[in-house]
Amino acid sequence: MRVLVMSDVHANYAALQAVLADAGQVDETWCLGDLVGYGPDPNAVVEEISEISNLTCMMGNHDIAATGKLSLETFNGDARRSLLHHEKVLTASSMDFLRALTSQAKICGEATLAHGSPRDPLWEYILNSLSARINFEHFETQLCFVGHSHIQCLFELNERSDRVQLNQTTPDKTYKLSSKKMILNPGSVGQPRDRDPRAAYAIYDNEAMTWTPRRVEYNVAETQGRIREAGLPEKNAVRIAEGW
Ligand code: ZN
Repeated sequence: MRVLVMSDVHANYAALQAVLADAGQVDETWCLGDLVGYGPDPNAVVEEISEISNLTCMMGNHDIAATGKLSLETFNGDARRSLLHHEKVLTASSMDFLRALTSQAKICGEATLAHGSPRDPLWEYILNSLSARINFEHFETQLCFVGHSHIQCLFELNERSDRVQLNQTTPDKTYKLSSKKMILNPGSVGQPRDRDPRAAYAIYDNEAMTWTPRRVEYNVAETQGRIREAGLPEKNAVRIAEGW
């Protein structure tokens, strides 16, 4: 089975379309949350994702906030301003879709899915080997797929030495998933933060047991124009051209 794994689209419809076109035919799509927040097209993104067949979709911290189930005070200035805008423009059906997403970690075959981490699915960032090490105790499957940090990478647990290794993955390289426990992050579709502005996602093959991180160019200027048109913070437009 070929699975498209993606996360953190953040209302960037142009980036989402580029990813779906680039991924081609897949058997399943696993979306790790944060469909909304920051970008100009929350409704178009929610509609497009809701129409994907064989979809498993997690709730992200921005998704729960946009539906009013969480105080926006927990977000910093630009993120909060963007969410206030989304709260106003999201349609009832987009809201319903976001509200129905699961905020708990979920098991799909050999993989556990979570937005941030299996220990704290909505909020915790797995950014270094220390936070990864703690989280290896919080899932039973061999693999765990997370988003939230917007960094395409993988963490590997060496059970003999009890050490965790962090690997920045190389796009288009296919990684063989041995029997080691791993935490894998496909990166962010709509707002990459690793200085590569191209939209990020990954293809997981559960028969070949491989993970292929991918990057794809999209029309950044188009999304920037729409961010400015919507009156969203200028920083949201600047950062997607630079990947931070
Ligand atoms: Zn995010």
